[in-house]
Formats: sequence, structure tokens, C-alpha cells
Amino acid sequence: MKIIASNFKTNHTRKSTKEFIENVNTFISEEKIENDVYIFPTATALDSFSVNENLIIGTQNAFHVKNGSYTGEIGTEQLDEFGIKTILIGHSERRHIIGESQKNIALKYNYYKALGYKIIYCVGEPLEVKESGLTETLGYIWEQFDGVDLDYENLVIAYEPVWAIGTGVVASIEDISTIHRKIKKKITKPLLYGGSVKPANLEEILNIENVDGTLIGTSSWNVEDFKEMIQITKNKS
Ligand code: PEP
Repeated sequence: MKIIASNFKTNHTRKSTKEFIENVNTFISEEKIENDVYIFPTATALDSFSVNENLIIGTQNAFHVKNGSYTGEIGTEQLDEFGIKTILIGHSERRHIIGESQKNIALKYNYYKALGYKIIYCVGEPLEVKESGLTETLGYIWEQFDGVDLDYENLVIAYEPVWAIGTGVVASIEDISTIHRKIKKKITKPLLYGGSVKPANLEEILNIENVDGTLIGTSSWNVEDFKEMIQITKNKS
């Protein structure tokens, strides 16, 4: 069954997140959605939500600690308060805007792996790498797996080309199909595509071989659009 995930990034308040989650949860019950639906709100909006088992609330980020002196970060003490057991790691905005190194990403990965978290692990190349060719692109992607155990049972991978994230530019069917095939040859984990997915292109993307679901930013922040995309995902399973 295909997966659908929403990354709120730095959007929605605590109040609107609660309303969004409750709205989606009712939809899941009424429409008998059995697919795994993930929502990654901001850290300030995390809470103990009473939702269907297949509606999974995760954190967009956390530091590889229980607690301590890491200004601006949260650790597992804060996540445990709400029973959060799912984390996004390696998102391109953390790699390229915040400047998280592969070494730190691997540290985080191993910390949360040891605690049994479900990890949605993101990889993807910037435009200049894509323009240098497929070999360079794959080389770049493989380096983003340095220090990461690919046999981890709770691992889901998201291929998100940097040039397609939040830009409105979607990778072509051929691009997605080529990269997903190459990744799947090496790694037999569920593989999501992310990058300007929206209601109008979701079905086409889900039809591509080796696409096990999507990780969606911008177009998932409107609850009606997100519900429409959940319905499309259900019908594709
Ligand atoms: C993302 O943030 O993971 C993402 C894919 O964003 P967008 O859908 O806005 O491109």
C-alpha cells in the first residue's frame, strides 16, 4: 500500500495543526483509509493526538540526545512526552540551508535507530550535480548514505531532488523512474518521491514503478488538498 507524508516545514500554528490533524483523522475514519499517512508538524505543535493507528505524527527534527544543553534543539525527553516515535532525517533544507553535515546526520540516524524510531531518510541532488550527469548524481546520492545502516527495519527512504523541492518544478517521469530504479537495486526499503508533488500530478507519480509513496511539502499544507491526495493515494494502492 502506498504511503503519503506531509512535511509542514515552518508552517501552521499549534492551533491550526491540531485542527488539521483532527480533520485528516476524521477523513481517514470516514473514507476507511488504510494507507500509512504521516504528518510532520513543527516542534511547537507536537502533542499527544488521539488518532487512527495509520495516522502517524512525526518530528521534522531532533538532536541525538535525551536532554542537555543544546540551545534551540529538542531531544527524546520532549518527544517521549507525546509518544513520538517517527523522525525525518537528512531533509535537503537541513542539509543545505541549516548546514547539517553527513557526519551529524549519520550520528542522528544511529541514535534514533538504536531507539527503534521509524526514520524517513531523505536524499537528493542539487541542480548542478544533476546537470553533471547520472553517474555524478548517483555518486552524490550514495554519499548521502554514508554511515547509515540500510538494513534497518524501520527505514523509509525519500528521494527528493533539491531542485524540485518547493520550486514548482517536478522531476520528469523518466528522472524519477531512473533514480528510483537505481536506488531500489541497492536498497529494498519503501522509497518515496518528494518534490513539488500536488493533486494534479500525484497519480502520475504514483504510477511510476518503484515509487512507494510521496513526501509532500507545500501542497500538503492545505487540508482539503492533502485529503484529496490521500484519496488518490488510496485509489492507487
Ligand atoms: C519537502 O519538503 O519534502 C517537499 C517535497 O517540499 P515540496 O512538496 O514543497 O516540494
